[in-house]
Amino acid sequence: HTTPKTDIEIANAASMEKILPLAKERLGIEEDNLEPFGHYKTKISLDYIERLADRPDGKLILVTAMSPTPAGEGKTTTTVGLGDALNRIGKKAMICLREPSLGPCFGMKGGAAGGGYAQVVPMTDINLHFTGDFHAIGVANNLLAAMIDNHIYWGNELGLDERRITWRRVVDMNDRALRYIVNSMGGVSNGFPREDHFDITVASEVMAIFCLATDMKDLKKRLGNIIVGFTRDRKPIHARDLDAHGAMAAVLKDAFQPNLVQTLENNPALVHGGPFANIAHGCNSVLATRTALKLADYVVTEAGFGADLGAEKFLDIKCRKADLNPEAAVVVATVRALKMHGGVAKQDLGREDVAAVQMGSRNLTRHIDNLHKFDLPVVVAINRFSTDTTAEIEAVQEICASHGVKAVLCDHWGKGSAGAEVLARTVVSQLEKPARPISLLYEDETPLWEKVKTVATKIYAADDIIADQKVENQFRELQEQGFGHYPVCIAKTQYSFSTDPTLRGAPSHHVVPIREVRVAAGAEFVVVICGDIMTMPGLPRIPAATQIDVTENGQIIGLF
Ligand code: ADP
Ligand code: MG
Repeated sequence: HTTPKTDIEIANAASMEKILPLAKERLGIEEDNLEPFGHYKTKISLDYIERLADRPDGKLILVTAMSPTPAGEGKTTTTVGLGDALNRIGKKAMICLREPSLGPCFGMKGGAAGGGYAQVVPMTDINLHFTGDFHAIGVANNLLAAMIDNHIYWGNELGLDERRITWRRVVDMNDRALRYIVNSMGGVSNGFPREDHFDITVASEVMAIFCLATDMKDLKKRLGNIIVGFTRDRKPIHARDLDAHGAMAAVLKDAFQPNLVQTLENNPALVHGGPFANIAHGCNSVLATRTALKLADYVVTEAGFGADLGAEKFLDIKCRKADLNPEAAVVVATVRALKMHGGVAKQDLGREDVAAVQMGSRNLTRHIDNLHKFDLPVVVAINRFSTDTTAEIEAVQEICASHGVKAVLCDHWGKGSAGAEVLARTVVSQLEKPARPISLLYEDETPLWEKVKTVATKIYAADDIIADQKVENQFRELQEQGFGHYPVCIAKTQYSFSTDPTLRGAPSHHVVPIREVRVAAGAEFVVVICGDIMTMPGLPRIPAATQIDVTENGQIIGLF
């Protein structure tokens, strides 16, 4: 019995191909259209992408999951495994993923480039800095913040109310010390002290804009539309009122080009953008997805968290805005997570418990039924862990079959593409059926309050939504100010269909309390906050960073 290799050991042993020849041979992209970062990462130029416009689109497959548990599900791992398996059975397939954030990488989660034998590489680069996109996004965000305080310093011609500034500074780090701060301290020459906040970079509206913008012009327009705060008589002030949007777009110019890398099996992957999945929509850039659809016949992409959040926003925000039509959803399930939803404690997950699997499968079937409401065909991928027993796996397959859905056992984590071949064939046979357009959950014209209620009742199985008078008034104001046609981006816990993270399984008849509502006028959605949502995470008692190191010859170790 040998201990399995860690993700980083597998990734460090990868035999990567040089990215320029890979791009040429696999995707037909000439060197002139690429801007390489070293030998294994490259950006794809925007004019090249523009020239692809007339090509037909490939088929889009969404990877999503049941409600996450501390036992782990493996969406990214399955996205990579399925992409590799599609290539293995002779299809021209690409994957599209989010870029990892440094915060969780040094905190609890470790790397976010897949796992086992289903990863994108160079894994350490992708997890640490990559091509600098998040730095550029942080700079664009903080340029606007600096211009706000500078405007006030030089006389505040626009009449910004210091108490009503909503724009925050960001840093790509889990740093709870920066959640509430006072800036401009130290006397007259340093400006006017005011309460300020830092969020993590992935929570910046610039990140959401970056990921929804269709081209440079759209990017600039959206940046200009950002609302930074209000005057004393509550008139909104925009980034364009400060003339900040041009320079913000300028520092994003290079970052805005999608990044091409490869999987462990040398298949092409785009890794670009990475918005939070709670206060933002949680999927990679529209530009990367659209580019991949032009370059490949099959594109596999991931949405963050469980399907109640990730898939709903992918469909109702990203697909609505970017006019994308996914043709299938793969829902990742694990026996371990099913058992936890069935009431088993984490330390008891090693013991066979078919009854708990059956009990917990109510969470999975709820997600399946939900995806069917979007007219999206579903295949379940059972991401195999070594502790799973045959009886438990068969129980999942039976339950899915009784819901008219195939559940395929996969072992891409252990075996790479060979472990997901059956999944790939099942997905392909699903895609051979004539595609139906997806149906979105609500119309643009539906009032904001009704949109939230629709998501809460249809997807979360809530009876109703509630809010204080103050929040209800804000809904009415947003409606009157002309934001009523925006989709809603609901921020709630990912651990439960309800707003109580401890309610596993498939709770119903609960009520969703709305704490706060804000408009993201650049991202073009209305953020609806239900429960405590952290936009600046903290580090755990023993951060993952304590394990990360670099050897004398420059090899990074300890990143898991
Ligand atoms: P998600 O995208 O859903 O957050 P990831 O794909 O990033 O999940 O996987 C989370 C972690 O779980 C990774 O470290 C990965 O190596 C591990 N993992 C995924 N699948 C398996 C598996 N079948 N067996 C063991 N570990 C796994
Ligand atoms: Mg992931």
